[in-house]
Amino acid sequence: MLQMAASVPVTRHPVRVFEAVVAEVRDLGPHFRRITFAGPSLQNFGVPGPTLDLRIKMLLPVPGHALQLPCAVDGTLEQGWYQAWLRQEQPGRGFVRSYTVRTLRRSPAGAELDVDFVLHAAPGGHAGPGTAWAQNAVPGQRAWFVGPDVTAVTTATPLPEAGINWKPGAARHVLLAGDETAVPAISSILGALPEHLSGEAFLEVPAAGDILPLASDSRVRVTWLNRDGGVPRGQRLERAVADAVSNGDAGSGTYAWVGAEAETVRDLRRCLVGAGVDARMSEFRGYWSLGKAGSGANGVPLTDP
Ligand SMILES: Cc1cc2nc3c(=O)[nH]c(=O)nc-3n(C[C@H](O)[C@H](O)[C@H](O)COP(=O)(O)OP(=O)(O)OC[C@H]3O[C@@H](n4cnc5c(N)ncnc54)[C@H](O)[C@@H]3O)c2cc1C
Repeated sequence: MLQMAASVPVTRHPVRVFEAVVAEVRDLGPHFRRITFAGPSLQNFGVPGPTLDLRIKMLLPVPGHALQLPCAVDGTLEQGWYQAWLRQEQPGRGFVRSYTVRTLRRSPAGAELDVDFVLHAAPGGHAGPGTAWAQNAVPGQRAWFVGPDVTAVTTATPLPEAGINWKPGAARHVLLAGDETAVPAISSILGALPEHLSGEAFLEVPAAGDILPLASDSRVRVTWLNRDGGVPRGQRLERAVADAVSNGDAGSGTYAWVGAEAETVRDLRRCLVGAGVDARMSEFRGYWSLGKAGSGANGVPLTDP
């Protein structure tokens, strides 16, 4: 889906640090806060096609301390920058958390980027750095993130290196499943899908009030699930995918894309692979891990519950 100019030579690492300003803060539902970023640095942010599930890494300061950036703003990041960043001392190092580009708008007046933050409570009630940052964000505040430089992404750039993992290949039937952290990615993917694609999309959110409008030209059927009434996390998502499998809506020709809490992803993977879905061709990604701090399946165990 990514269309790029074939003539651009491959010489640069595709990601770098961008600085932006919070332009707007808007609550979309009880657990979703949309933060719109703007600023001249964003002119070169992005990829040359639809952003799909494009991820960025927010660089978040320890409150009250200056952030030591992994390189100068707009400067080049080298391969291995993340390991180098991990070796920096706190409080300058701050925190890195992954988020998804919900929408990137370009206009002659400048670019704007929407990111939908889930406001979740960590065990013990205190918020993690990503949630705390979003809870306290105000217009005019500066923010930094690592993401792709549109001028450095070429036809030879592997999409995951630029931050995109959606790769359905020639599949005509898809199954997307995610919890609230993957709602931005699934919404963005659906918005870019062509009419000839069919399939199912299951989105589990904490409450019915978190259901968000989404649009797609595709024939993918969207089902929202919620945990109102204390339904355990992941339960309705797993049931919905299992039902899709029993109904023959997912099988060997299906491209699957799953993003959620790591254990839920593991269970959904087992179910879909058992139905014949090819795991090597599909995308199963833990977006966070229960009881661990940090994005992804390999967070750091929380010592203070
Ligand atoms: C590729 C990718 C894209 C992502 N896109 C988005 C996005 O667009 N929007 C978004 O909100 N998140 C997104 N996430 C998930 C987000 O990075 C994690 O939820 C992250 O842990 C949040 O950081 P934090 O500082 O708030 O909490 P952390 O400090 O990481 O964790 C603190 C505690 O909260 C728990 N926790 C973390 N996330 C949740 C949650 N969602 N619900 C309940 N408990 C939680 C942890 O298990 C831990 O116990 C994405 C993750 C990946 C890998």
